[in-house]
Amino acid sequence: MKARKMAPTPIDLLIDARYIIPVEPFNTTLEHHSVAIRGGRIVDIIPSDQARLQYAASETVSLPEHIVTPGLINLHTHAAMTLMRGLADDLPLMRWLQEAIWPAETKHVSHAFVRDGSLLAGAEMLRGGITTCNDMYFFPQASAEAFDRLGMRAVLGITVIDFPSQYASDADDYLHKGLASFESWRDHPLIRFALAPHAPYTVSNRSFERIGILAGELEIPIHIHIHETSDEIASSLRDFGQRPIARLESLGLLGPNLIGVHAVHLDRHDIERLSHHRCTIAHCPISNMKLASGAAPVTQLLEQGLSVGLGSDGAASNNRLDLWREMLQASLLAKLDTGSASSLPAHQALRMATLHGARALGIDDLTGSLLPGKAADLCALRIDDPDSLPLFDPVSHLLYVLGRHCVTDVWIDGQRRVKGGELLQITNTELLSIARLWQNKLRQ
Ligand SMILES: [Zn+2]
Repeated sequence: MKARKMAPTPIDLLIDARYIIPVEPFNTTLEHHSVAIRGGRIVDIIPSDQARLQYAASETVSLPEHIVTPGLINLHTHAAMTLMRGLADDLPLMRWLQEAIWPAETKHVSHAFVRDGSLLAGAEMLRGGITTCNDMYFFPQASAEAFDRLGMRAVLGITVIDFPSQYASDADDYLHKGLASFESWRDHPLIRFALAPHAPYTVSNRSFERIGILAGELEIPIHIHIHETSDEIASSLRDFGQRPIARLESLGLLGPNLIGVHAVHLDRHDIERLSHHRCTIAHCPISNMKLASGAAPVTQLLEQGLSVGLGSDGAASNNRLDLWREMLQASLLAKLDTGSASSLPAHQALRMATLHGARALGIDDLTGSLLPGKAADLCALRIDDPDSLPLFDPVSHLLYVLGRHCVTDVWIDGQRRVKGGELLQITNTELLSIARLWQNKLRQ
């Protein structure tokens, strides 16, 4: 009897790629495979010759000289600070904040500043293969408008600082305004929120206690800078008689929903506390090196079972929102820090820049790896440039050879956001006029 031929299944999009690095399963490289997408979700990843028989796609994209990865997740940034890119460099953290950043923010930060800065930042991130960012800044309503327009996935901080700014007068006002934004974007498919107490040295115990309760009630992450400099620890010991992480633990803030940014200066007890409460660290190697804050003990944290994601920090302290560069620097810094060339290899760096970030944000059911059922958040990089050949191991190339200039195409939720290196949601002309407008204002 003849086998009955099955009719091909209709799908929206089929992407044929030379290589696919799905991140899950770990350490896997697929060659000549295709991603089948329907309704924004990945339905299958199978060999391309089978995919053509099994699926009838409305659109087929052929990427014969490309590597496809999950979209990257920038686990810590201050998107709007892109308008202050290069405003002040080569200063230690507190002088950089007190002499340059805080005065400029006092003078310029507004709804328009945050919307424009976030558009510029989102455009840079998308073009570099970042499909999700975890943002912390003022006026989250304005950043939500920017990320909505760009069609980019973003987790926006309900920022809390115990001093006034152009945005809010005190901690209660920050919370009130942030929660109003949270409510107004509640049903958006790409925009989410986190509570974002700025740092232990700028937030009071009373505010932390409220934040801890709210994060539990709303079931959202807590996003905070911790143990960035040795001065931060000395001042906490002086003012509170505790190291910042111990203080956060006693206030009930540590838990699996806590994303601790930087975590450069850690002793054995700090690491035990973070590990016990299953916190995530957002490692920002370039910002840490540029501000001479130090090297986070990433290898040790990973060995202790902690999840470590990667962040760019803001463009005022980096000065690019480029996660490929963060992956490379994280790997090199880990090797230098441990004296071992096998520290932080390529697959692990990519996992940090994708799946670990998604888990920290509570969205690993949606993104962070390429698995059937997840959203189609994808990034494609070209590998046909003589500068990047020969190629023997695509994952090693992602870390040591390629970069954001190789990114050709980006999809979020199955929607194309970058095509052939060009953004589809906003023009370069508009981005340039935004950058020039604020460059002139900030110069004054
Ligand atoms: Zn930061």
